[in-house]
Amino acid sequence: VRARVMEVTESPEVSYEDIGGLEEQMQEVRETVEMPLEKPEMFDDVGIDPPSGVLLYGPPGTGKTMLAKAVANQTDATFIKMAGSELVHKFIGEGAKLVRDLFDVAREHEPAVIFIDEIDAIAAKRTESKTSGDAEVQRTMMQLLSEMDGFEERGEIRIIAATNRFDMLDRAILRPGRFDRLIEVPKPNAEGREIIFEIHTRGMNVADDVEFGELAEEADNASGADIKAVCTEAGMFAIRDDRTEIRMEDFRNAWDKVQAESDETEDVSK
Ligand code: ATP
Repeated sequence: VRARVMEVTESPEVSYEDIGGLEEQMQEVRETVEMPLEKPEMFDDVGIDPPSGVLLYGPPGTGKTMLAKAVANQTDATFIKMAGSELVHKFIGEGAKLVRDLFDVAREHEPAVIFIDEIDAIAAKRTESKTSGDAEVQRTMMQLLSEMDGFEERGEIRIIAATNRFDMLDRAILRPGRFDRLIEVPKPNAEGREIIFEIHTRGMNVADDVEFGELAEEADNASGADIKAVCTEAGMFAIRDDRTEIRMEDFRNAWDKVQAESDETEDVSK
């Protein structure tokens, strides 16, 4: 069961250099997650507790998972990921048991970064979701909070949660000693988009006519995940045309395609 719902990576391959346009967020994550893992004695000496949990919130595909992975990589910590939706179960006690398993695995693999994606699945306001009214979902959340209380003073396990639906969250989880550090991870601005284009084309055979600054302007509203998709798609356009060098037109066609696809999925979700 563990293997199916939990992703455990000894030292994920993502590093800070792979993340574009999130300088401030990176800085905050480093202070709140990396420092307590690397220098727990600093917090002891100063006499303050490091933040218990960090909550990353913002639109899909903006780099929340990457940030959590990069900090685990930097600190040589095991990265343990679980989706909130996996904790919502039909059988009584199963969600709470999975939370206990999650922390058991973290204790076995210290230092560890626990990443809970889609935390809203277990921590939505009662009025906002059918499942959160469920006593079982409430118990799962209580188990998570009590596990967090249990390792408060220790530096070897840090917990990061993420959500696309900040507005839906039960404010109770944001109280001190819980997810008390909030970091917004927005879509990138033009400058950020340019950097993300550069990151994702590092290994690509890009023609001299390609201007990432221009592409970044044109691809307004793109997330980091969209830009990654554009780069791969641009490569596909070149291959279809039997070329090994990727031109500006390939990137433009790719952006049109990615944009059209994301419009479609938005229509479906309406
Ligand atoms: P979700 O909320 O959907 O889980 P997320 O915010 O966790 O999304 P990630 O999984 O971190 O998003 O990003 C998905 C992919 O998009 C990454 O693997 C990366 O290739 C690319 N990406 C997203 N944001 C960035 C960024 N800021 N810099 C570079 N690449 C990015």
